[in-house]
Amino acid sequence: MSWASYLQAIKELQQQEIKELEKRVNRIKSSVETTEKRIDDFPEIHAYLQKHFPKINLGDIPIYMTSPRVMDRNGFEDAGGCYINYFKAIFVKNRIRVKDSGGGRFAAALYKKTSCAIDPEDVVMHELMHALSARVRSGAGARFRNNEEEFVYTNCVDFYRSKGRSDEEIIKTSFLPFCIQDAMSDKDVMLGFWSQLGIEFPVRKDYTKVDYEKKVQRLFDNNASFMATAIFDAAMERSFKMIDLHNKYGRQQIHTNTSPDFDPELRMDTIDMDCDL
Ligand SMILES: [Zn+2]
Repeated sequence: MSWASYLQAIKELQQQEIKELEKRVNRIKSSVETTEKRIDDFPEIHAYLQKHFPKINLGDIPIYMTSPRVMDRNGFEDAGGCYINYFKAIFVKNRIRVKDSGGGRFAAALYKKTSCAIDPEDVVMHELMHALSARVRSGAGARFRNNEEEFVYTNCVDFYRSKGRSDEEIIKTSFLPFCIQDAMSDKDVMLGFWSQLGIEFPVRKDYTKVDYEKKVQRLFDNNASFMATAIFDAAMERSFKMIDLHNKYGRQQIHTNTSPDFDPELRMDTIDMDCDL
């Protein structure tokens, strides 16, 4: 569900590629399986955003809900949904299942720990928060993927709580894939796990690309259970920390700042997670 990097990439696309994307997007829009909705069709989300960001109106953003098949066919198989800033539109699958991300014992072990059903409305909430962020931050300069996702995830927490979920449930149905990716891209953390196993991780420059990938895959698969558990635990810890920091610093500003237009900017700075994790 992390499409901020995708948005970043779109900026750099050539006109031709944008046309290509437009074709795919138009195919989704015109499918008989697609229904177009607006924020008003999600009264709970609408009320939540109005309460927390009263000056920002997202009523003009179309939300296209469609079958996983239509999304997959048009190149969106990896995501439950996405917000595409170029088109100012949201696309969401109406049924979401976290898929086993490929072959191998490691992927299977991680999948077993993390798989859960995701409510499409949660994805609508998430993508609307990206739309909100884009609107508030337009012209604000460079955006960093992690900051963007943290902004989105943490600002959705109270909404998920209002549905009666515990923090742990919120993490499992929302934060976890992002935090797993975050943990796995943290070199120090990963090298720490390998050293606990007494394994010296291969150095990229010593191998060809294909050999290196094979070797890494083999290492993960041979230590699937340990690595899946270690990464899962690290991701859970990060998720709880994100919520904790949001409780301590992030949310406070939302309620006390009398100029909501400035809120997200201030809060982006407040929850600069890189320093804390
Ligand atoms: Zn996202």
